[in-house]
Amino acid sequence: MVKYTNVMKSFGDLEVLHGIDLEMQAGEKIALIGPSGSGKTTIGRMLMTLEEPTSGTIEVEGEHLWHVEKKGRLVRASEAHLHQMRTKIGMVFQHFNLFPHMKVLGNVTEAPRKVLGLSKEEANDRAIEMLRKVGLADKLDVYPAKLSGGQKQRVAIARALVMRPKVMVFDEVTSALDPELVGEVLAVIKEIAEEGEMAMMLITHEMDFAREVADRVIFGAEGHIVEQGPPEQIFENPQSERLQSFLKRIR
Ligand code: ATP
Repeated sequence: MVKYTNVMKSFGDLEVLHGIDLEMQAGEKIALIGPSGSGKTTIGRMLMTLEEPTSGTIEVEGEHLWHVEKKGRLVRASEAHLHQMRTKIGMVFQHFNLFPHMKVLGNVTEAPRKVLGLSKEEANDRAIEMLRKVGLADKLDVYPAKLSGGQKQRVAIARALVMRPKVMVFDEVTSALDPELVGEVLAVIKEIAEEGEMAMMLITHEMDFAREVADRVIFGAEGHIVEQGPPEQIFENPQSERLQSFLKRIR
């Protein structure tokens, strides 16, 4: 349901992705691991349409995120097309990016009301269901400033889930948290993963988490996918020297 084909990305003179091919099936959970700066976040941000590839294509449910002309040239999509494609994709970031002037309920209902055009009542119902799922049904009337980092991140997860995306990108969602708050956020993500419906891309430095949740782990380094496979294979029996030395360094 998600397909990257020969995706390259440069920032000015710096080519960070050198031709990525990557497919995700509906409901599949993948983890992207690799050294800092290898391009993992850029892969996720392109799916979220926050960055455009320099060349190559990305498809979601068989439709290109960007329009591609016959000669393969990338052409900026219309805002209407991007708008429609974005509703299929959710993203949770390292820094929660909540709206500080809105209470928890407002943060979660904003997009369903503005983007999906739901009534206040429908949006509230959906939002409360999601906030219950992440264990925050008692915080509807609280401003983000009053929440812990772990709670803020759980609101951010509810805010993405409420749109019922087909695929969710979780980009280093625990990196900004105090260690004692990491567990509660990972537990929520694990629970969502177990429901099984959504495809998930987990960009993470938490190897135990990747091992537990992902169906497939993808190791990238220096803008290439170096090795991929089921978690047992990647962590117990790495084939490439690059992955072996990466795992040695982080263990
Ligand atoms: P980390 O694990 O540290 O989050 P990453 O694997 O997610 O790293 P990216 O954040 O995708 O890596 O960055 C890949 C490279 O692209 C880095 O060298 C980074 O400095 C560069 N980069 C990312 N975004 C931009 C940007 N907007 N402008 C210029 N360079 C960028």
